[in-house]
Parts: sequence; structure tokens; C-alpha cells
Amino acid sequence: MTENHIFGPVMSRRLGRSLGIDLLPFKTCSYDCVYCECGATTHLTKKRAEFFPTEEVISQLDTVLSKGPTLDYITFAGSGEPTLSLSIGRIIRHLKTAYPEYKVAVLTNGSLLGDKEVRNDLSAADLVIPTLTSTSQETFEQIHRPCPGLLTKTVISDIREFRKEFGGEIWLEIFLIPGLNTTDDELASLSEAIRMIRPKRIQLNTLDRPAAEDWVTAPDPDELENIRKYFAELKIPVDVAGVCCEQPDVCRAGESSMNRSKNPPHPAFDG
Ligand code: SF4
Repeated sequence: MTENHIFGPVMSRRLGRSLGIDLLPFKTCSYDCVYCECGATTHLTKKRAEFFPTEEVISQLDTVLSKGPTLDYITFAGSGEPTLSLSIGRIIRHLKTAYPEYKVAVLTNGSLLGDKEVRNDLSAADLVIPTLTSTSQETFEQIHRPCPGLLTKTVISDIREFRKEFGGEIWLEIFLIPGLNTTDDELASLSEAIRMIRPKRIQLNTLDRPAAEDWVTAPDPDELENIRKYFAELKIPVDVAGVCCEQPDVCRAGESSMNRSKNPPHPAFDG
């Protein structure tokens, strides 16, 4: 049976009305994050592959997009790390050639950005949102349980290098877990890393649905607001998932989900 690779449109808390593309077999990832809302990683890998025929995904996209849906973004997300797919570059180029009216976003954990082929594959996208949680290798491993050999300092420098050569926008997702990466020391070193990366926006993300590990919680609203103010000192716009732009009192539409499927999209997609 042919797998369905397209989901939504969903009302993403961060990206508005988004059509999702999932290029991975469920749960194929270079991380096994404690906060993952898709559950535990069953295929932990950093080896890229064409997991499904590229033409199959393009054909499904053409079927949906030929109807001209109203979208804010077409988003690569789903049930694993999208840059593990060798199909992603060709599909992004197809989208930008055949449907230039749509913006393309990629949600990535950032762990493969040191690979020149990955950076080349993403080059035609409009927006890339990598994740950063900690500059400490110990905290990074506690949160992400990554493939052996992945180092947070390398991920940070790879995001920084990618930002220099990428023509689109980089927004940086900071996923916050109380007790792990919300201490003063963690926030100070994160702030320094953000200063070096210089993303266009910072997106603070927190747990919204049950996580892979049930002890993971979200910061309370006061703590979240304090962290938002702290990062705002960097003079980079800071968004809090679930609160639209800088007008939380007038724009609450982003908090609702639309057309949610039984299989939740990538946690960041809905964040
Ligand atoms: S949250 Fe994203 S990066 Fe982390 S395990 Fe889930 S799919 Fe992978």
C-alpha cells in the first residue's frame, strides 16, 4: 500500500496554515528527544537514505497543490528528521519551480547541517528552523539522546555556518524543559550561542502534548515570560509558541489546531 506523505493543512502554532510533508518512516531520527510528541525513536540513525520513492511524494504533492489551497507554508516535518531523506532537495526544487507562490519551510534538529549535501538540498527553501536546547554536551545528551558522536558544539557551529550561506530566513527553535535547560547558566550560554548564530527570530517552544518521557513538563507562564524577556535583550524578535507575534491579546488564533490527524505531526510543526 502506498504511504501518504502529505498531511494537513494544519493550523500550526508557529507557521500559520501549513501543509506538511513527511519523508520518513515512523520514527526515524538522529535524536530520541525526551520531549518528542511522536514517541520514542525506533530507528536512530544519521545515515541519509531515499526512504520512499521521490516521485511518489511529488505526485501526491501535485494532486494536493493543483487545487490551489490557501497556505502560509509547505513544511517538511513529520515523524522524524526530514534532512535524513535524500529526496528533500529535489522536492524543494520541484515546489519552488512548479509552485513559486508557496513558501517552503523545513523544521530540522540541525544535526546534519555539517553535511554539504544537506545544506545544498535546503538552499532553495524560504525558511529553515533548526533546534537548539543547550550548549552543554551533558544536557544535550540528556534531552536529545542523539546518535553516538553528535556534539552540541558542532551542531551550533554548523547552524552558524549554514546561516552565513543560506539565502532564506533562519528562525531558531529553543525547546525549554524545566530543570534541564532553564537554569541561569544554561540560559546564559544559550544566549551566547544565539548571539553567534544571529537567527532572524527566536521561537521558544514548550511541551504541548504527551512526550516520549512522562516526566517532561512545560515551564509555567511566569517562568516562560521571564525567559522570553531575557532572550529579548538580544534584540532579536522572540516568539512564544501559542502566542502570535507581539500581539498576544488580540491574536490568539494560533493556539488552535485544525484538521488534526490521529498521528500527530512533528512536535515542532505544531509548536
Ligand atoms: S522532537 Fe524532532 S528531533 Fe527530537 S526525536 Fe522527535 S522528531 Fe527527532
